[in-house]
Amino acid sequence: MKYELDIHTHTIASGHAYNTLQEMIYAAKEKGLKLLGVSEHAIAMPGTCHLFYFHNLKVVDRHYDDLELMLGAEVNIIGYNGELDLDEETLEGLDYAIASLHTPCLAAGTMEQNTNAYIKAMENPHINVIGHPDDSRFPVDYEQFVLAAKENHVLIEINNGSLNPKGFRQNTRENDITILNLCKKYNVPVCLNSDAHVASDIGNTTFIEPLLDETNFPEELIINTSVDKFKLIVVKYDISKKGALRMSKKIRTTAVDYLFEAILSLKDTEECYTFFEDVCTVNELLSLSQRFEVAKMLRQHKTYLEIAEKTGASTATISRVNRSLNYGNDGYDMVFSRLGEIFEDESNDSE
Ligand SMILES: [Zn+2]
Ligand SMILES: [Zn+2]
Repeated sequence: MKYELDIHTHTIASGHAYNTLQEMIYAAKEKGLKLLGVSEHAIAMPGTCHLFYFHNLKVVDRHYDDLELMLGAEVNIIGYNGELDLDEETLEGLDYAIASLHTPCLAAGTMEQNTNAYIKAMENPHINVIGHPDDSRFPVDYEQFVLAAKENHVLIEINNGSLNPKGFRQNTRENDITILNLCKKYNVPVCLNSDAHVASDIGNTTFIEPLLDETNFPEELIINTSVDKFKLIVVKYDISKKGALRMSKKIRTTAVDYLFEAILSLKDTEECYTFFEDVCTVNELLSLSQRFEVAKMLRQHKTYLEIAEKTGASTATISRVNRSLNYGNDGYDMVFSRLGEIFEDESNDSE
């Protein structure tokens, strides 16, 4: 089977991996991948990059001919209540996030503690994937785990590195078979990842394949078969979780009321330029207009890729706009209809 993506890889920035970002991109292209996700170890891992690495991801291009790059993090779960080693704001700026348990960052707890740690991490709206939950050093109640992944719309990773006979994680084969059987039973998608720490290992699923055969695992539950499928899931999952958070924020104040009255007093586009150029920074204005354009393209059923290409918006931005479109106050749609925009019937709820 041909897979289009590998979203768990590390470069030299992680401290114990061996290739540069450019080398990883080159290797991913050589292997014919369409999407490479680079997920450096977050800050609790000894020897990894500084927090500022994760704040500066904007400087990196995301498109290399036919290969798209996504920059996320392998976030460490550092407490049994799902505490993470990156703060909200940093997580918000990532293209996606994997959460994992690592022995240098959290000592193994009881089965109950480990399971709770994973489930609480899944409940965090920024977490898209749970990395290598396959290690008997961290015993897990897999039935509860898989059901929570389904409930929280988080992808479960099947990690090729864990299955390497040279690997250090324990009973990974047995645990992965248990996970795959439960995912099959409950119809929960999985993501197959190499966890490459060297460029030649990108896209490697050789140790996973026999397990898929053995469990007769359905292809439609393997997210790697299509970038669009992966994005739809990450974005959609993002939306369903974050919508509620967004709406609970209280923004109604007299100062905001006064601003809106001012906006309503503007007579034409020219006056808008005059006012907004003074009241906003250029970037604020451009990001507002970018969001509006993204919303329109989402309503026009443009693909994620088309939108990113046309508007230059990041994954995080598109997902935020999508969330507001579907779980917000219908503000975009109200304005679109006033502007006479007509879109074909909404099919945003489809899989
Ligand atoms: Zn890991
Ligand atoms: Zn890793």
